[in-house]
Amino acid sequence: MEDCVFCKIIKGEIPCEKVWENENFIAFLDANPVGEGHTLVIPKQHFETLLSLDEKFSSGYIQALQEVGKVLRDKYNSEGFNVILNNGKAAGQIVEHVHFHLLPRKKGDNKRGFFIA
Ligand code: 5GP
Ligand code: ZN
Repeated sequence: MEDCVFCKIIKGEIPCEKVWENENFIAFLDANPVGEGHTLVIPKQHFETLLSLDEKFSSGYIQALQEVGKVLRDKYNSEGFNVILNNGKAAGQIVEHVHFHLLPRKKGDNKRGFFIA
């Protein structure tokens, strides 16, 4: 997708602060974080929503989230993390390239347990 901002990040045309990657997924810090370590995990191929992912990418996604969760735990000493996906415009999806938000959490950090970006 030529005008997709996340495809541009994948191609290196827009810089990002990379947290983790494998062959099919990349994780990078959100440009407008709701808290320290707010990270986006995206497939390296353009799919608009969770429902349009093909089998290869849907089956690998949970494993990618696990790996990023471990990196965030080690990097930010977090005790837990929230996982959010805004699926579709009505649900708050602004960037039309499917992405999970991961937010590292600590007990008593006063962040809401659920957030919409
Ligand atoms: P959505 O509302 O679509 O679930 O969230 C999109 C997220 O992408 C927002 O949290 C926004 O800050 C983030 N974002 C949008 N453009 C960029 C960008 O160019 N770089 C990075 N790192 N994050 C972006
Ligand atoms: Zn894209």
